[in-house]
Amino acid sequence: MSRHIKVYKFPVPYTHNSQYKELMQLAGRIYSKTVSIIKKTHKRKGFWLSINTTQKYILRWAQDIPLHSQTKQALVEKYFEALKGYFKARKTNSDLKPPFRTPKYFVVIWKNQAVRLLKDGTLRLSMGNGRNPLYVLTTLPQGVDIRRVELVYDRKQDQYFFSVAVAFESKTEQLGNKVAGVDLGVIHPIVASTEDQTILYNGGELNAKLQYRNKKHAEFQRKLSKKKPGSRRYRKLVKAKRMFLKKTQNQINDILHKYTTHLVGWCLSQGIGTIAVGDLRGIRDRVDYNSTANQKIHQWLFRKVSDLIKAKAETVGVKVVFARESYTSQTCPVCGAKHKTSTRNFKCPDCGFMGHRDAVGAFNIIKKYTGESLVVGSLAYPVGVRYSSHLCCPVSMWSPWKPTIEWARTS
Ligand SMILES: [Zn+2]
Repeated sequence: MSRHIKVYKFPVPYTHNSQYKELMQLAGRIYSKTVSIIKKTHKRKGFWLSINTTQKYILRWAQDIPLHSQTKQALVEKYFEALKGYFKARKTNSDLKPPFRTPKYFVVIWKNQAVRLLKDGTLRLSMGNGRNPLYVLTTLPQGVDIRRVELVYDRKQDQYFFSVAVAFESKTEQLGNKVAGVDLGVIHPIVASTEDQTILYNGGELNAKLQYRNKKHAEFQRKLSKKKPGSRRYRKLVKAKRMFLKKTQNQINDILHKYTTHLVGWCLSQGIGTIAVGDLRGIRDRVDYNSTANQKIHQWLFRKVSDLIKAKAETVGVKVVFARESYTSQTCPVCGAKHKTSTRNFKCPDCGFMGHRDAVGAFNIIKKYTGESLVVGSLAYPVGVRYSSHLCCPVSMWSPWKPTIEWARTS
């Protein structure tokens, strides 16, 4: 069993901004006090205080500050993490200065014992004995293992968030023994194959979104270059550009999330225990890029998709491996003959293997991973999946909240 942490962010209404600002200021005072006593001791006496001594001192010093005592301790811990990073980095860079910055505002931290999830999804954050707790509306279901809650501020959006870290147990015991090869591409962002099944994810919507974003972005840059920096019109345009990018990014993420969730559900329904993802370095050679900007976007996309697949698959006990060898979509997966095709079907002139052109890459990944040549019989025609805003996971009820899925074993 290994555990992994997923972080959920819940924005809070603007009307509460001043209250949260005050809280972050209180945290800033405690953090800055921690910095200053450690700095002072080091300067006067030449040694670094221990974390226990500092925590005791801070708890006494800050007893009237209306925050939970664990919050205060967590702030001291946060500083010691920064200090530890400094000691480590100092080994290679002796000019480095210690982290002695004293911020006015700081992240407010609630450790698990100060957090309770009520039945309706409201988080109850304790502020310490005798003080009113803080209530935050969330969509978290009952029974999740909340490790930590943080109040953070996003300067760009002028928005406060509660970020909630939830722990999940990953299953190391595998559910199935089949292997799926996953090929990431441009026309089809994801193609997955087992020995007898193939699933193709349509890239139309995604590519349209990416192209539209590029076009609009260039348009914004062109308009901005004609305005005087700092002027009212310039600032307005910058704001509009930021809003636009945020919106399209959300749309793109939605597609990627729906596709990867669908893929993991499909793997479960097929009894697949291992997903082999093709090495991303190989992609460069197989895709015609018409610009370096395009290349960058696709590299980002491949990285993002493979990260999502890995994170989601591992929550449900499907292993993900990266085939660290180049593969190609022009090699026959059965006999290894090279063959370029211009139609949708790949037909090997040497051995007669026939299959969908886009599935050949995924077959070759399985072959690379298992080290065996495939004995491919009659291939089922690939299943195509097209994005829609209602696209669901093929295995019903699969959700990150239900990482243990008994029913998957029988299907
Ligand atoms: Zn062949």
